Amino acid sequence: MSDTDQPPQSETLRTPIVAVLGHVDHGKTSLLDKVRGSAVSEGEAGAITQHIGATAVPLETVSSMAGSLVDPDDFDLPGLLFIDTPGHHSFSTLRSRGGALADIAILVVDVNDGFQPQTVEALDILKRTGTPFVVAANKVDTTPGWNPQDGSPIKPSYDGQSDRARQMLDTNLYEIIGQLSDEGLSADLYWRVQNFQKNIGVIPVSALTGEGIPDLLAVLMGLSQRYMKAEMAVDIAGPGAGTVLEVKEERGFGATLDVVLYDGTVREGDTIVVGGTNGPIITEIRALLQPQPLAEIRTEKRFERVDEVKAAAGVKIAAPDLDAAMAGAPVRVVRSRDTDEVIRDVQAELAEIEVNTEEE
Ligand code: GDP
Repeated sequence: MSDTDQPPQSETLRTPIVAVLGHVDHGKTSLLDKVRGSAVSEGEAGAITQHIGATAVPLETVSSMAGSLVDPDDFDLPGLLFIDTPGHHSFSTLRSRGGALADIAILVVDVNDGFQPQTVEALDILKRTGTPFVVAANKVDTTPGWNPQDGSPIKPSYDGQSDRARQMLDTNLYEIIGQLSDEGLSADLYWRVQNFQKNIGVIPVSALTGEGIPDLLAVLMGLSQRYMKAEMAVDIAGPGAGTVLEVKEERGFGATLDVVLYDGTVREGDTIVVGGTNGPIITEIRALLQPQPLAEIRTEKRFERVDEVKAAAGVKIAAPDLDAAMAGAPVRVVRSRDTDEVIRDVQAELAEIEVNTEEE
C-alpha cells in the first residue's frame, strides 16, 4: 500500500442510524420508550444519551440488554442511534446523499391487526429507498392466555406458553409473513432466516413486557455489523454532513435546525450550507445544542451548548438566517473546501428531493 492509499487518519466506524416505522397505534413510540427505559434501568452511567431527535444506545448497553444474544467482543460498531419516530411523510423526505437517512429500519406491525394502510405505505418507502429492515410483530402479550416473562428473549418466552397461546400467536405471525409475501417479500421468523439480505426477519416482541426486545437489538446489531460496516467507515474529523429533521423556533435563538449528522464533525463557528425554500442558505453556526441531562432539568434551561458533535448524532444548530430552511434538506459544513463547490452539492441534492416529492 502506498501512502496515498491510506485511509484518512481519523477514519472511524460510526453508529448506524435506525428508524422506526409503522401504522399509527401499532407501537412505534412504546417500542422506543421500552428500549430507552430498559437501557436506563440497566443502571449504568451513560447507558443511553438523549440527543436532539434521536437516542444513542452504546454497544455495552445493547449488550447488557440483549444478554447472551450479543457478545460485545463480536462487534466493532459503537452501538445504535435511534431516530425519534418522525412519521412516514418525513421519513420519505429524510435522505442522505441519494439514499435514505436511516441505515436500517424497524417496521412495527401490531400482531393482531396485521398490515394496515400505513404499513403498506411504510413498506413502499423502505423498498423505494432500498433500506434494509426487520419486522417487529408487536403486542405478543395481548395473545389470549399469554403468560408474560418480562424482558425475556422471545424463544424461551414462546416455549413457556400454553399450546393454545402459541397456536394463536403462530396464526397471527404467519398472517404477517403472508402479507409480506403478497408485497413480493420473502420473510420468515427471524431465527429461521439464514440470509438477511434475501429474507426479511420477523421478530415477535412486546413493547409492554419487553419480551423479544433482546432479539430485536441483537438482530439490528448483527445486521449492521455484517452488511453495513463499509458504509459506517467515515472520516470522523472531516466536514460534517447531515439532514434537517425539523426547523424550529427557539426562544433566544430564533429559527434553529434539528439535524441528524451522518458523517464527519460539526463545530461551533463552522460555515454551513443548508437547503432552503429559495435555494441554499450560507450561514455560520452560533451554537450547537443538546438536551440538558436529566439531573440539570431544574435549571430550567432546556439545552446545553457543546463545542462539537461527531457522527452519528442528533443536534440542534442555531445560526442566523435559517427561517427558510427546509425539513429533509441537506446540511454541509464547508471547513477547508471551496464554498461554491459545497453549494453545488447542496443544490444537486435539493433537486433530487424535489423529484422524489413530485413522485409521491
Ligand atoms: P404509535 O402510534 O405507533 O407510536 O403507537 P404507541 O406506541 O402510541 O402505542 C399505541 C397503543 O398501543 C398505546 O396505548 C400503547 O400503550 C399500546 N401498546 C404499544 N405496544 C404495546 C404492546 O406491546 N402491548 C400492549 N398490550 N400494548 C401496547
